[in-house]
Amino acid sequence: MLKIKEKVHFDYDVLISGGGPAGSGAAYHLRKLGLKVLVVEADKFPRDKVCGDAISPIAINELEAMGITKTQTFQNANEITKVGLFVENNHAIVNLILPDHLHYHARIIPRVELDYSIYQKAKDEGAEFLEETRVINYQTFPHKVITTLQQGKKQFEIVSKLIVGADGSRSVVRRLLQEKTFDDDFQLVGLRAYYDNVQGPSDRMDVYFMEENFPGIFWFFPEGKSGANIGLATLSNTFPHKQSQVKKILTDHIKNNKDISARIGNGTLRNKIEGWPITFYDAKKEVTGDRVLLVGEAAGLINPLSGDGIQYALLSARWASEILGKCFEEDDFSAEKLADYKLVLDQELGYDLAFSNLIVHFPRNKSLLPVWMKAVEILVERARKDQRFAEIVVGISEGTFPSFKALTLDFVMKIFLQGGISGSDYILDTMKGPSSFKNEGTLFLKSAKKIVSEISDHPKNNLDWASQIGKKLFHVAKYAANSGNK
Ligand SMILES: Cc1cc2nc3c(=O)[nH]c(=O)nc-3n(C[C@H](O)[C@H](O)[C@H](O)COP(=O)(O)OP(=O)(O)OC[C@H]3O[C@@H](n4cnc5c(N)ncnc54)[C@H](O)[C@@H]3O)c2cc1C
Repeated sequence: MLKIKEKVHFDYDVLISGGGPAGSGAAYHLRKLGLKVLVVEADKFPRDKVCGDAISPIAINELEAMGITKTQTFQNANEITKVGLFVENNHAIVNLILPDHLHYHARIIPRVELDYSIYQKAKDEGAEFLEETRVINYQTFPHKVITTLQQGKKQFEIVSKLIVGADGSRSVVRRLLQEKTFDDDFQLVGLRAYYDNVQGPSDRMDVYFMEENFPGIFWFFPEGKSGANIGLATLSNTFPHKQSQVKKILTDHIKNNKDISARIGNGTLRNKIEGWPITFYDAKKEVTGDRVLLVGEAAGLINPLSGDGIQYALLSARWASEILGKCFEEDDFSAEKLADYKLVLDQELGYDLAFSNLIVHFPRNKSLLPVWMKAVEILVERARKDQRFAEIVVGISEGTFPSFKALTLDFVMKIFLQGGISGSDYILDTMKGPSSFKNEGTLFLKSAKKIVSEISDHPKNNLDWASQIGKKLFHVAKYAANSGNK
């Protein structure tokens, strides 16, 4: 029987939900292919986004290809060439080394400015934007997608060949595609505070690993000579659930930590402290379906070790556009065809994200907090003494060094060696005399007793934690085996 193809009127080739770096980035690349693109954005540009505002060298590489490094926004942005790693009573200052293929050191660019430049570039290429409008639903049919939009009290529909979900950590498109609510295991929470009149070197960003917010970090990212972005990020399910408690952890840190206090000096809070959830990558979840695809944070593309996601938003926007170009050439938008995008994500980021995911799972076990804090102290002490080691540690958090590559024998041996030195320092300390022996011995016994009682008080939590470690290890091992076979 002859099949008659439905004659459809399309308003657009592609509808993109969300105009952040992923959505505007995708709009830019899809326009370059000559497609008719509509970006639907809930907010109005220029709009703010709660963020650390640290733009990594890889993200800048993508911005450079879009011509954004030539803009005044980029030219005025503060350049970062050093990182301070702080633990209780110790720190390491590390020079950032740029790999050969990257041209710019990291910059601190307020998101209100960065996102506006990407939006402008997409508009210059001819992408259309519908602002202050929300995607509230979409439905796929064999030959089209119908998306329902809400603008004020008005609801209406747009017909396109494809929908791209670029609507961030609370993505509506992802919720409809994955038919699942958010999984607490893959959520971070972040807080940001802008300060004026701060002190210290403008080319150095600082990161603080402190017991009161572990696993998680505090940061101080200078915007220039006077302003700074200060904040914290941590795993949601190891954290108090009330926002006021989270804010208190940040304000206490600002008040009580001598290193950050020194940098803030007489600085003052510019606006109120704001928070935002961060969703990171779960390889088991779908990022494509018939006529639908997710990019950026909607796809969970965040490095859980650092909370960085702008580089992945921009990279995924480009990769998705390349795959979509082929789909348009072949007029094939099936889930099977779009699955090529998931393959690219897996090849380019899968191993690294699986490894980071495994690493952040260890300190979820709060019973072992003293062990994790000691491990971080060892890392910082080693980084203080060994520039190459420090470059790798910082490169991992900046995304310029794949975290799984750190698992070389040399790197691990250095950690163990430092662990050994710290351990022998401890033994030497205890041998200094009876008073020192008593102090250190009491401290050690207290920690050990605390760990044992924590573990026996929460046997189920500890078993769940161990079983998750097993699963994540298995996942990393699969990537390792695949990379070995290539
Ligand atoms: C506290 C904090 C600190 C961070 N620090 C850094 C950092 O220093 N460096 C870094 O690289 N990353 C950082 N990140 C992560 C970074 O913010 C994200 O990776 C990045 O914003 C992802 O870009 P995106 O375009 O995917 O999503 P977003 O930037 O979130 O953009 C999504 C857009 O979609 C719109 N939208 C949402 N729902 C709808 C809807 N239903 N309809 C239409 N539009 C909709 C939103 O208004 C928004 O404009 C941080 C995140 C947080 C929370």
